[in-house]
Order: sequence, then structure tokens, then C-alpha cells
Amino acid sequence: MIRCVSKLVFRLYNETGRQKRESCDFSGVKILNEILYSLFLDETLYGYSRIDEDLKSKTGCGCALVTLMPFPDLERVYRPDEFYKMNEELSKKHACKTNQIKKYLDECRIKYAAPPAAPNNDGEYRADFSYKWAAVHAGLGFIGKNDVFVHYKYGQRLRISCLLFDMDAPVYRGTVESKCGDCDRCVKACPYDCLSGKEWHGGIRREELIDYRRCAAKSKHDGPGQKRSCCYCMMACQWHKVSDMTG
Ligand code: SF4
Ligand code: SF4
Repeated sequence: MIRCVSKLVFRLYNETGRQKRESCDFSGVKILNEILYSLFLDETLYGYSRIDEDLKSKTGCGCALVTLMPFPDLERVYRPDEFYKMNEELSKKHACKTNQIKKYLDECRIKYAAPPAAPNNDGEYRADFSYKWAAVHAGLGFIGKNDVFVHYKYGQRLRISCLLFDMDAPVYRGTVESKCGDCDRCVKACPYDCLSGKEWHGGIRREELIDYRRCAAKSKHDGPGQKRSCCYCMMACQWHKVSDMTG
């Protein structure tokens, strides 16, 4: 696979150079998509999101590349301790793939930046750049009643990573709606009554869905600012069994 990806990088380098000379025709992105497919083996596991103007001017990047890693066992209901362990392992594998993408971007001289995923330690538990916001705006899924990203195919059984980068990529421009409907499995699963049961929509405030301070206080912590969710609500979500890829 390495040799195959190297060939793709060589093509990406050449196509990107041509792209700069001829203005964008997405040929460089086409090759980047081939590289992404070779790494993730499922085209629903990556996409491109717009970013706001402030972040553009701060980073010099034009959009976000969102990549997703499904849990190794989609059917398993992980206990919180098992979940942390599995998530840490998955995080390492995801970082390896992200490092390969960075390497390709370096070789192609495409600027990128990695936004921090950890929330600020200000009691608000909000990161400067929301990975789940980017995943929604990449057209990969919606937000569930527990304020967690729901992928159209893998539900809440995955982790998200983002890379800001300076390439004219085809960001998703469509609208996104919740598909939770009458389901309230996650709401009932929360042992601390943190979830209101309201359905997410683009204009809703986080506070209307979840008492995030209560969730943070009741869930385990891993140092200042690092909230580890107890994961009961995520484990209750069965959306991965629906696999509705209509978006
Ligand atoms: S459990 Fe049901 S309500 Fe909660 S996020 Fe999943 S689909 Fe939506
Ligand atoms: S992470 Fe735990 S405490 Fe927070 S909403 Fe989900 S089930 Fe409730």
C-alpha cells in the first residue's frame, strides 16, 4: 500500500502545482481523495468542511479535512473503562493515518494546521474549534439528542479528527437535519438526567440539549479541562444499525 500511496503523492504534487498555475480544477483534491480512500477504505469516513473567516485569517487555511475512525467492534457495548482504553488505542491509529496525510501535504507543500481537540479549561468545556461541528458541516452526519455527532453509517461508534488545510476542496454546502425523531434511547440511558430530550437543529444552543456542567461533573475527568464522558448515552445509540446514508 505504501508504494501505491507514494505514487499518489507524486501525482498529487504534480497536479497541485498544475492547479496553482491553472486555477483550481479539483484534480489535486481528486488525488487527495484517492490517498484518503487508501487510508480509510470507506469514502463516508472523510469529508471537507468550511471554516469561519476568523480561523481562516488566524491559520491561513481555507477549509477543514475531517476524518473518522469507527470503533473496532460496532456491536460491543463498552463499559466506561473499556471505552477509554479502546478510544486511546483508536486515537493512536488515527494519529498514524493523520501523520501520513500531513506527510503528503508536506511533500506537496500544502499548508495545514491541527486545531486542538481538547476543550478550554474555563468551565465551559468548549474547544476553540469544534470537531463535531466540522463533521456535520462536511456532510457526514448530524448531532444527536445527547449533543454527540451521529454519522450516517457508523452512528456514534467512531472518533473524529480534523486538519485545517490550504487547498480549494469541495466543502459540503447542503443543509443538515437531525434524524433522531422519536428515539430517546440516549436520553433514557443517561444516569444523571443531563439530557433534555430536545432534537438538535442548526440554530439550537448546546444548553438546550444538555446540562454540560452536570455531565462534566458526573463523568470522569482526566486532568484539568479534559472531560471524559461516561459514554452511557453513546453506547445506547443504535443509529449504526440503521445505516441511513441519505444524508
Ligand atoms: S440514541 Fe436516538 S435520540 Fe440519541 S442520538 Fe442516537 S438516534 Fe438520536
Ligand atoms: S456522557 Fe454520561 S453524564 Fe454525560 S450525557 Fe452522556 S450519559 Fe449523561
